[in-house]
Amino acid sequence: MVGFDFNSYQVWFITGSQHLYGEDALRKVAANSKAMVTALNAAKCMPLKLVCKDTVTTPEEISKVIMEANASPSCVGIICWMHTFSPAKMWIDGLKKLQKPMLHLHTQFNMELPFESIDMDFMNLNQSAHGDREFGYICSRLNLPRKIVSGHWSDAGVQQEIASWCRVAAAWENASHLKVARIGDNMREVAVTEGNKVDAQIQFGWAVNGYGIGDVVDFISEVSDAEAEKLVKTYYDLYTVKVSSDADKKSVFEAARQEIGMRAFLESVGAHAFTTTFEDLRGMHQLPGLACQRLMAEGYGFGAEGDWKTAALLRTMKVMAAGLGGVSFMEDYTYDLTPGNELAMGAHMLEVCPSVADAKPTLEVHPLGIGGKADPARLVFNVKAGAGMNVSLVEFGSEFRLIVNEVDVVTPSRALPKLPVARMICRPRPDFKTATREWIECGGAHHTAFTTVLDVSYLFDYARMAGIELDLIS
Ligand code: MN
Repeated sequence: MVGFDFNSYQVWFITGSQHLYGEDALRKVAANSKAMVTALNAAKCMPLKLVCKDTVTTPEEISKVIMEANASPSCVGIICWMHTFSPAKMWIDGLKKLQKPMLHLHTQFNMELPFESIDMDFMNLNQSAHGDREFGYICSRLNLPRKIVSGHWSDAGVQQEIASWCRVAAAWENASHLKVARIGDNMREVAVTEGNKVDAQIQFGWAVNGYGIGDVVDFISEVSDAEAEKLVKTYYDLYTVKVSSDADKKSVFEAARQEIGMRAFLESVGAHAFTTTFEDLRGMHQLPGLACQRLMAEGYGFGAEGDWKTAALLRTMKVMAAGLGGVSFMEDYTYDLTPGNELAMGAHMLEVCPSVADAKPTLEVHPLGIGGKADPARLVFNVKAGAGMNVSLVEFGSEFRLIVNEVDVVTPSRALPKLPVARMICRPRPDFKTATREWIECGGAHHTAFTTVLDVSYLFDYARMAGIELDLIS
């Protein structure tokens, strides 16, 4: 994925203990921690490397390893586990200094209670049942945001919870220096896509800056015919191309130039998220639809009509889902209000990411009433049926808030022969009336970051790391 690679990131695994039990017990603690981390790293779902650090047994060792984690550019978070008892006053200084996300793994090295052989030595070694409670108390006392995962470390569900959190921690780190290029301002008079860019940088680390459309047009005009023709050939390889007239072929050719030019522009400013606006297309051949769709598929965050909040959120979710796909810009567009079978249709003028497509997209060219430019090229497809989720980031002056609605995407019951855009038909959970009423009451936007591969646990982890509230429609 553009600008992101899990191989650049680590999560440190820190085991707490104390000296009370003697060196022999501490050697076992260290060996067990190592075995556990080796097993977790071998789990297929684990997206990045867990690094087993030395067992910490004193306040000085604890503070030292936490400050090292803070200073390490590759460390995106720490996992803490108290194999034995580790008196938690020892952790106060270190935890007060902690600046990275933390996961508290509440597990035990031994799985089953060994009824026949259990003795005090066994209990002194396998005592996370109270060691983790002592640690948990001080985390709560310090009001420390953290994720707690409970269960045996070999359990697939436990491993998946850890893996998901690692994905979010990597996304949090990656997006903490995200550059968002705003190509044009917000759509005039629109409220929900506005927001305070200074507050966003303080809260999330996003640097949101504006660029003139002319800066982008310069890059597009430098694209050679040969480059554009080569990319058009790629389109024919990847998509079912339904283009026949010379004018439509010209539109596809110009769309390819836009894609190459926009990518070069984004690379030149180091941005991994961007916005466009149909109100500012001077010098552009057409509203960039295909280019935005394909740049999203590469991992760029995108927001239409100047919506930089959704662009940045989308990029962050793209990173969470790296290697899994299935994240797109989306807009609640129109409804089927048949009583008892209400459905919502999501789409946009053009810009839905093919990573959520249910089949090979078709490449088509159609007129667009908005923007006053040539007919734009776009990919047309249905979104894959199954579980999905709409996520909206809104600002209420003093705070940012995530609003999340799980949905069930359905296969369209009939063809939509005259609708020339990608579309997503869904049944919002828990039901249409509750979902839409609550969404509106929460102030959720019409633009969302939509996903078919992440569930709400990722967003809860993210909200905790970001220090913002999350409203789950339920
Ligand atoms: Mn829109």
